[in-house]
Amino acid sequence: MTPEEQFKNLIGHAKEYGFVFQSSEIYDGLSAVYDYGQNGVILKNRLREYWWRAMVQVHDNIVGLDSAIFMHPTVWKASGHVDAFNDPLIDNKDSKKRYRADVLVEEAIAKQEAKIQKEVDKGRAKWGESFDEAQFKATNPNVARIQAKINDTEERLRLSLENADFKALQQLILDLEIVCPISGTRNWTDVRQFNLMFSTEMGAVSGEGGTLYLRPETAQGIFVNFLNVQKSGRMKIPFGIAQTGKAFRNEIVARQFIFRMREFEQMEMQYFVAPGSELEWYATWKAKRLAWHHSLGLGADKYRFHDHLKLAHYANAACDIEYQFPFGFKELEGIHSRTDFDLTRHEQFSGRKLRYFDTESEASYVPYVIETSIGLDRLFLATLAAAYTEEKLEDGSERVVLRLPAFVAPVQVALLPLIKKDGLPELARQIQNSLRFRFLTQYDEKDSIGKRYRRQDALGTPVCLTIDHQSLEDHCVTLRHRDSMQQERIPIAQIHAALEPLLSIESALAGLVG
Ligand code: ATP
Repeated sequence: MTPEEQFKNLIGHAKEYGFVFQSSEIYDGLSAVYDYGQNGVILKNRLREYWWRAMVQVHDNIVGLDSAIFMHPTVWKASGHVDAFNDPLIDNKDSKKRYRADVLVEEAIAKQEAKIQKEVDKGRAKWGESFDEAQFKATNPNVARIQAKINDTEERLRLSLENADFKALQQLILDLEIVCPISGTRNWTDVRQFNLMFSTEMGAVSGEGGTLYLRPETAQGIFVNFLNVQKSGRMKIPFGIAQTGKAFRNEIVARQFIFRMREFEQMEMQYFVAPGSELEWYATWKAKRLAWHHSLGLGADKYRFHDHLKLAHYANAACDIEYQFPFGFKELEGIHSRTDFDLTRHEQFSGRKLRYFDTESEASYVPYVIETSIGLDRLFLATLAAAYTEEKLEDGSERVVLRLPAFVAPVQVALLPLIKKDGLPELARQIQNSLRFRFLTQYDEKDSIGKRYRRQDALGTPVCLTIDHQSLEDHCVTLRHRDSMQQERIPIAQIHAALEPLLSIESALAGLVG
């Protein structure tokens, strides 16, 4: 099965099992807006909780915040979003489809990278055990030629974006002979700028003065509250403020399911540090965030850092943590060294001082900021994509199983009485009641036990407990593990203790702290 087919199946599965629905589906949907169903909302909440607790509970010096979506309009002037939060767009005149010009170029680069990978695979097949990938890449003339082309393209892209030179960007698209995937032609318009912020109006005031924006990032709510939190919490630098919440961007190209949405959720943490120490903290947070991702168990080889070609106007270092989604390596989280840009701009625009007074050096200064910013929906997609498996079993049958991290699964323990009578349902309910306030449980007595196992596998339930006639006598149940399908007999009195390390967020957090 191709990755595209697998991804299509995943989207179908997400709907069938109540994870993700298209928004306003009965009205044919609203493009790039999605709703989370009965199981999706739990998975999303648990992922958010895992992030939140890894920030706020694990660190003494990181506190939380919940700022409003609406903010004073001047905030977005100060932040640079009114003037600079633009994407370069280009239309194909034949298909009338609109694209992000930089994304078209990045996709062309990805195609070249795939060519290199093909050469590497060929080399590996030829040389077998003795194959040295690094040496092969350094010496193979085909690879060298493709790599030179990639380097040249990246440099031209970087320069055209940095200088906002849209003629050059259009020329790059023409030179790379990029065609529209729909029409197959190279009949492109000029490249134009498009502001991504949604605007609305407040109260009865209309016109320029009354224009409000739906926040395109949660970060600014943190910056404008920097002193409120620092003073009321008597925070000492370095310290962080974490926040999760909705953000809105009028994305030009909305594709790839919940990867690029117009309404989405961010989880951001701004870490305030002394000037001069920011690059050290930048390195620290890169390592910490990668370790957090690895702790989810979505595959350590599926992450890579990608340094930004074009640094945003506010950054002196920036990278993405990319995840290997079914459609390739793409940004999952951004880590940015934002300097003192934001606080300085808010000082200028508000006329208020946003300084930290260091009692030791008796100096006051505008702190520097390291930002970690992850999209919750993208994390959700990465989790689902890593988990979704179509499996052929030894007996020739097939199953779809969601290998979700057990501590974020929407159902963690299924209680399954073997049959619907003889006191088995009552015992199953009794066990469920003893577990329900600690774990997420589901009771299911419908259909054969085999069918019920398949249903729970497809939902991602890590543990099934089956209650049979023997249970009434020996006070034991059968515990079945989702991934291995191994079964073990376990005394009812020991269930809780056995499940705790497998299923609790606390165990995962403790593992993180080490
Ligand atoms: P991209 O290059 O993919 O548009 P970005 O660099 O603009 O992303 P940031 O501004 O750094 O993204 O936002 C931080 C995080 O917010 C991203 O790493 C991503 O996980 C998430 N995010 C940004 N835009 C969207 C979106 N349209 N839909 C879902 N998540 C998003």
